[in-house]
Amino acid sequence: MESAVQKRTRGMENVTLATPVQYLKGVGPARAAVFDKLGVRTVGDLLEYFPRDWLFAPSPIKISRMRPEEPATIIGLVESIDYQDYRRPPLFEAMVSDDTGVCRIVWFHGGYLRSQIRLGQVIVASGKPTVFKHQLQMTNPKFMVVDEKHTEPDKHFSGGVYPASARLSSRQIKQIVLPLLDHLDALIAEFYDQGFLKETHLIGRKEAFAWIHMPPDEQKLEQAQRRLKYDELFLMQLGLALRRYRAQHYASATPCVLTDEIDSRIRKRFPFLLTDDQNACIVEIAEDMNQTRPMNRLLQGDVGSGKTVVALYAALLAIANKTQTAIMAPTEILASQHFLSIERYLKNSQVRRVLVTGGLTGRKRDELLAQVKRGEMDIVVGTVALLQKDIEFRHLGLVVIDEQHKFGVHQRAELRKDSAPHCLVMTATPIPRTLAMTAFGDLDVSVIKQCPPGRGEVVTRWVDRRNRRRAYDFIRERLKAKKQAYFVYPRISAVEETSKEIAAATDAWTELSERVFPDFNVALLHGRMPSAEKQRIMTGFRRGAIDVLVSTVVVEVGVDVPNATIMVIEAADRFGLAQLHQLRGRIGRGESKSYCLLFAETDSEVARSRLDVVTRTNDGFEIAEQDLRIRGPGELFSARQHGLPDLKIANIVNDFDLLVMARRHAFKMVSDDPVLTQAEHRNIRRALVTKFGDTLGLADIA
Ligand code: ADP
Ligand code: MG
Repeated sequence: MESAVQKRTRGMENVTLATPVQYLKGVGPARAAVFDKLGVRTVGDLLEYFPRDWLFAPSPIKISRMRPEEPATIIGLVESIDYQDYRRPPLFEAMVSDDTGVCRIVWFHGGYLRSQIRLGQVIVASGKPTVFKHQLQMTNPKFMVVDEKHTEPDKHFSGGVYPASARLSSRQIKQIVLPLLDHLDALIAEFYDQGFLKETHLIGRKEAFAWIHMPPDEQKLEQAQRRLKYDELFLMQLGLALRRYRAQHYASATPCVLTDEIDSRIRKRFPFLLTDDQNACIVEIAEDMNQTRPMNRLLQGDVGSGKTVVALYAALLAIANKTQTAIMAPTEILASQHFLSIERYLKNSQVRRVLVTGGLTGRKRDELLAQVKRGEMDIVVGTVALLQKDIEFRHLGLVVIDEQHKFGVHQRAELRKDSAPHCLVMTATPIPRTLAMTAFGDLDVSVIKQCPPGRGEVVTRWVDRRNRRRAYDFIRERLKAKKQAYFVYPRISAVEETSKEIAAATDAWTELSERVFPDFNVALLHGRMPSAEKQRIMTGFRRGAIDVLVSTVVVEVGVDVPNATIMVIEAADRFGLAQLHQLRGRIGRGESKSYCLLFAETDSEVARSRLDVVTRTNDGFEIAEQDLRIRGPGELFSARQHGLPDLKIANIVNDFDLLVMARRHAFKMVSDDPVLTQAEHRNIRRALVTKFGDTLGLADIA
């Protein structure tokens, strides 16, 4: 005779992690489709479809053994039911019996139970009994209707509660998962050796899967969670480590030698001494660029901290070594801004540089591109879109990418496919440690913390409707003193928006130029203007011919006008924390004190806390941490966006300690066994290929 276990697991011998769930008992095409919607296609997916909650019920006892205040689980026949909706609160009552006694069970507000609990059913109930009118009763216990012949009711009652859908209940999911747990020996392979597990206090991978679905107690559940989180973070870090190894070893770049003579020649270009932070970054960059493996470095520093200067140093170093540099920005305005600041430093120099814009067409464009191809241009500046498209270099030595706050890892990877220049990515958004280890985990990082000297303080104030007039008066005084101001609006025009209250830059421009500041030159700038028009206005503002620049968030990026000391952000509650900080970085670039005025009316908790943070601090790193805290990592960090597998159980903020440990372990493993071919890494390699698929080009090592 077959045993119960054998019966339940019949036909499971051939099941592997890759087996489609439809092959499992209890899953037909209809259920498979529902599972598909939940992201579960294979047995492996199902085992990683972790419960969202867990119940811990003691083993069932006879009704006569119940004691007041001692948590108990009982199994009994429903003898009577009664819904008493005249009571306050209304309650649903059931009398339940076994062969030793009867127990009264009540559920307050239990009207919904009328359709679930019926006369003659057997139920399992788990709760804490109390004495009521000299009788033991259970109040609001967790319960489940079971088959009368059910032999292991506790097993189905305790354990995981799954994220269910309308067409697949948690209990149904559990019935499909449980039989798999008897087969973990065949399904789950261990990743690490015993010594490592002991040293790190991690439990085995098999146990972890068994216990996450069916934990014997809370402590074991925690151990299971810790192990599975670790594995998830470890595989992610391993993917990053491999990506990095490949970038460094499968492509070779031109080493750029830095001599004292080159160094002093470059420094002569800057009308100031570099700060300590700038110097430290330059040392790191020059060391990277001196190698045949391509540099892959992130340069991070707040707006105005002096990144452009560092990037230009790197460009001049590449040029001194007879190679070309491409500088790319996300928008045309930012690209031309970069070009202008470079121009300032390169006046009278031999360095041949060109700005490629969308407006550049025809013969002129062809001629320029031909020069680039012949190597007669040293620095080419443009947008990512333009430079990625059809520009050929003779010898591209360095790519500088200004990402500002957009984390475009994919774009980066694409650009670097067939050539292997050194690569420096600049970002103005200070990146919290957690993201530096994940989204940017395959890059080296240099940080500029201190700003250049001679920066005026930036005062930030939240202005409500009552104080608006006073704010305008204040701004008018500053304008009279020849200072300039930005007015930033969230949308171009209110016409297409359903919500009338959204401030529109176009309307505001009319209002500001005609009524509020009629004596000053107020200009409008937005993203839908032709690019020549945009250029004209930016130049006017830079030269001081325009006093007030009314704009949409296009000015968010890279504008450098030290005389602009006032910024008004209209409907500031609609901007994110990082964005507000980014915008504010446009002012405070000169020596005088600057003012950032946040116009906002809001009752939203989240918006208020964001406004509080920006008024309280100017420290970009603190703001980034707060942002992560307010928004949670989900919104800021989407793994898929970075070509990494999604995290199902680990959380990069809450599980930071495990993340650090996993990262160290993964990078060590790759440095010992760069393509994971050693026998003891076989299981890990297999799991990696399943997880990452082709995204990391891992297939060719598998
Ligand atoms: P970022 O690119 O980080 O926003 P920039 O490189 O554009 O910053 O520098 C902002 C401003 O600070 C520029 O006007 C630049 O000339 C100036 N600057 C940069 N480094 C220094 C320095 N070491 N000393 C004085 N001024 C500096
Ligand atoms: Mg800059």
